[in-house]
Amino acid sequence: MNYALITGASRGIGRAIAERLAKDGYAVIINYHSNSDAAQAAKAAIEAAGGQAELLPFDVADGKAIDAALTAWETTHEGEHISVLVNNAGIRRDGLMVFMNETDWNKVLSTTADGFYFTTHHVLSGMLRARSGRIVNITSVSGVSGLPGQVNYSAAKAALIGATKALSKEVAARKVTVNAVAPGFICTDMTSDLDEKELKKTIPAGRFGKPEEVAALVSFLCSEEASYITGQVISIAGGMG
Ligand code: NAD
Repeated sequence: MNYALITGASRGIGRAIAERLAKDGYAVIINYHSNSDAAQAAKAAIEAAGGQAELLPFDVADGKAIDAALTAWETTHEGEHISVLVNNAGIRRDGLMVFMNETDWNKVLSTTADGFYFTTHHVLSGMLRARSGRIVNITSVSGVSGLPGQVNYSAAKAALIGATKALSKEVAARKVTVNAVAPGFICTDMTSDLDEKELKKTIPAGRFGKPEEVAALVSFLCSEEASYITGQVISIAGGMG
């Protein structure tokens, strides 16, 4: 069985990716932090569509919790390894730099950057041993171009881009690809507080994107056909950025 772990997959883009990869034939591992009802609902939707899914709760910013959860998974799945990792979990704590407190800085950085480190660090050895694997990091146009009011978020997402490029060069010879997907504005809970009507005017395509559109790109990057694409940042932003 080919296993795909998607962090923060109980809703939004992560859930859409989990549903899509399940349709592609992966047994998906839905990571979530606290919203167990939403995670159960995502699992049920995948199973109702004929796919295979299991839940693996942990906080991506907690290295010990990740090692414990993934070690327990390895014990119950002897001889198996995770062949696709999508580092999707992320948070926003927006505010102008002059007003930004240390907690909002640290929380955003640790969820994205430490989350990438802890999860990838644990999963990577299995991919290297198997000489195949796909890592997709969900960054943002904010990390590519920088957005005012998002110094913490832009810094975190830019860190993910640097990590993507460096890691891709370390592991390419072992047939593990590492890419980043940079969405613009996508309709999810994360953007539900934004003024969509106003922001749409700044997007050449004139609309917010859909989680399923991001999931389709991730699906391609995880496919055999994408074997020669690595170390890239692919924007999916309706022409923004
Ligand atoms: P969302 O808030 O619906 O989903 C984020 C998910 O991450 C949630 O399920 C949340 O519980 C999970 N999460 C947060 N902290 C976690 C932690 N410590 N451990 C485990 N899970 C945690 O938002 P979304 O729009 O679906 O965002 C998904 C990813 O896409 C994020 O990385 C986000 O930064 C990125 N992104 C979103 C947009 C957008 O417009 N929606 C644009 C660019 C990038």
